[in-house]
Amino acid sequence: MFYRCFKLPVDTVCHRIDIEDLGEDEELIVYKFFQHFCCYDLIPISAKLVVFDTQLPVKKAFFALVQNGVRAAPLWDSTRQEFVGMLTITDFIHILRTYYKSPQTHMEELEEHKLETWLNVLKTKLKPLYTIRPEASLYEAIKTLIQGKVHRLPVINPHTGNVLYILTHKRILKFLFLYLFELPRPSYLNQTLRELKVGTYENIATIKVSTPVILALNQFVERRVSALPVVDDQGKVVDIYAKFDVINLAIEKTYNNLDITVKKALEHRDQWFEGVLKCKTDDTLGVVVERIVRAEVHRLVVVDQDDHVVGMVSLSDILKLFILQPAGEEKTTKKEECPFKKDTLTESNYNEQSNRIEK
Ligand code: ADP
Ligand code: ADP
Ligand code: AMP
Repeated sequence: MFYRCFKLPVDTVCHRIDIEDLGEDEELIVYKFFQHFCCYDLIPISAKLVVFDTQLPVKKAFFALVQNGVRAAPLWDSTRQEFVGMLTITDFIHILRTYYKSPQTHMEELEEHKLETWLNVLKTKLKPLYTIRPEASLYEAIKTLIQGKVHRLPVINPHTGNVLYILTHKRILKFLFLYLFELPRPSYLNQTLRELKVGTYENIATIKVSTPVILALNQFVERRVSALPVVDDQGKVVDIYAKFDVINLAIEKTYNNLDITVKKALEHRDQWFEGVLKCKTDDTLGVVVERIVRAEVHRLVVVDQDDHVVGMVSLSDILKLFILQPAGEEKTTKKEECPFKKDTLTESNYNEQSNRIEK
């Protein structure tokens, strides 16, 4: 049931990856998996895609993200007739940090600015728009996500210029996970986080329940992290505040007061929150991958025996390890495109995909 949302049945993997060709070297299987599958392969049959015109007011755009239940949208410049950027929760955080003064002062800019105005404010800091072709390999997609330090990668049909899907670390790891048990098991899945040195173990950015939201937003941006473990006075983890949770300020229209505490800001989640998802440095990579995929979160907090925060292991750390281990970046001389693109990707099914896109 899990894999129905993808187009390929599990046994087609055997046609895609020549297991014989691996010889004794099971260690290469995940690396080869990502080189053999292409972005098109993990696009669901049906998915919601929301695109914003840059003439849309900023405030409406964030409400539209919420109302459509999406985390990001490509930005379309109708004068230039091209996609010029992405709008994500990080951008909402940037805007709040830039214009917030006090709970008493309304953020006029948030009320009045169009997306275009905001893009101009950011002009010098903006990254180029990272995109990927449907026939590019997942290996290439992971490299782009990691090197670009972005969490959203629009897949664009080069023939129509349409966005087909927004690729994320979560989607890619889930796709691998569907097939993982069918493939020879590389030994590093049985090694621990400590042995593999996967994750971050120094200078972890944390907050307290009493931290004002505005200071948490500052940490997201200044430390370039996507979540902050909430710790008590002993450094034990009691909660987590992720960038994703910030959009709740738009849902509840409470963004005019960013002096509220993180505890207050997280109250909306109390009903369904089942506690912080954690792991230990002596957990194996296999266990961590399974936990993170099943929980559908972007990271686990690494704790010691007493629940003190000792690190963070994020999907980006795991995918980075998968494409570097054990082949090594320098061995990447093979073709990085999906070798089956001619069979699977024709002009007509490109267009069929494109027709499904809501603009
Ligand atoms: P999120 O807030 O969902 O974690 P990101 O970390 O990817 O998203 O966003 C960080 C910044 O990079 C934001 O300003 C966002 O607009 C921008 N961004 C996101 N995806 C891309 C992309 N594919 N190309 C260029 N910039 C991007
Ligand atoms: P995204 O899909 O945008 O990357 P996240 O996975 O960061 O979203 O967050 C989605 C939700 O899961 C948020 O409400 C966040 O607080 C929660 N969350 C994220 N990481 C953890 C974790 N390690 N333990 C418990 N909840 C988490
Ligand atoms: P992410 O933005 O979650 O994909 O993570 C990017 C990098 O930051 C990864 O190497 C994570 O291990 C690391 N990281 C994530 N959260 C934190 C945090 N709160 N403090 C320090 N590093 C973090």
